[in-house]
Amino acid sequence: MSLALKVLSFFFPELCHSCGNPLKPEESLFCAECRKSLKRVRVYCRRCGELFSEELPSWLEERELFGCKFCEAEKVYLDRVFLGFRYAEPISQLIERAKFEGDFVLAYKLGRLLRLALPSLPFDFDLACAVPLSVERLRERGYNQAELMLWGYLGKRPKSNPLRRVKHTRPQTELSRKERLENVKSAFSVEENVAGLKVLLFDDVMTTGATLRECAKALKKAGAREVVAIALARA
Ligand SMILES: [Zn+2]
Ligand SMILES: [Zn+2]
Repeated sequence: MSLALKVLSFFFPELCHSCGNPLKPEESLFCAECRKSLKRVRVYCRRCGELFSEELPSWLEERELFGCKFCEAEKVYLDRVFLGFRYAEPISQLIERAKFEGDFVLAYKLGRLLRLALPSLPFDFDLACAVPLSVERLRERGYNQAELMLWGYLGKRPKSNPLRRVKHTRPQTELSRKERLENVKSAFSVEENVAGLKVLLFDDVMTTGATLRECAKALKKAGAREVVAIALARA
């Protein structure tokens, strides 16, 4: 951190979004104490990201459940899914702001928060990329929030993104599960050589997983060896 930034943060420290106490320079959005109370997603299929009932007995919660009815029935191109928080307050509100209110610094901070809250998430891969926006939406918004989150998560700017969104899709939130699948079908193409690579694929919110699966499909068809997905939040 530069001296000017250190001086600034000494006089004007950022405050915790939950308790309002000043944050330490290494913290992001929430103090260490409040970070612990953020709602996490615990019970899900580590292969496809499908949620299991939160009513499962607690001894089962911490076990890594790998494979489910859903990924048995359908070809899932993902090899592993890691989910961060539940799409609930206060995280959901912060994501909305990062997405729709032009707060791109917040997007970066959310990525940092994910890294701090879940240090066990993977960090070994050949290539990291975010789910891309269409050219139209990127022009409208000015930035891809998922890419900035990934930047915060990695602590460095991700290299060029091999994925392109070649179809301008409707926002997934407006659609039913079936429509979502149709909506993102063949929406992505891979424009760089990914043959033999282990790819980390990042998105802000996973809802049905259709978008992540479609991206993984494009990457696998282009020869990627492994696709591991991380979503900041799960709806
Ligand atoms: Zn706090
Ligand atoms: Zn599954």
